Amino acid sequence: MNDAARPLPLIDDLNRPYWEAAQHAELSMQRCSQCAAFRYPPAPVCAHCGSADYEWARLSGRGSVNSFVVFHRAYLAGFDVPYAVALVDLEEGPKLYANLVDVPLDSITIGMPVEARFVPVSQDISLVQFARRR
Ligand code: ZN
Repeated sequence: MNDAARPLPLIDDLNRPYWEAAQHAELSMQRCSQCAAFRYPPAPVCAHCGSADYEWARLSGRGSVNSFVVFHRAYLAGFDVPYAVALVDLEEGPKLYANLVDVPLDSITIGMPVEARFVPVSQDISLVQFARRR
């Protein structure tokens, strides 16, 4: 992966804690203070109960592959093909799309246990990716 050429996420006041946690190799998600539903991507209001109150919860970074796709065509600069993108079921419940790295693409399976990795790509951003859990 040519991380230097990748388009990077835009950091704003709402998602900044997520990216700051990733810089410290921690996975953190916004969680509703009223009903405890996770909000991802970050949002100003809970989709479940309508509350504007939230906290940031640290997650384990562990999960399993719910689904995945292997891209064989580069749609954006900075993505060297082939590469895998997985929908990960996190242990705490929420789902997260991310690159699946350091695993032979033909060995990825549904249900495969994975753990988060944090890959610095700029001064402000470490991307959250997943690798097979040992
Ligand atoms: Zn809520």
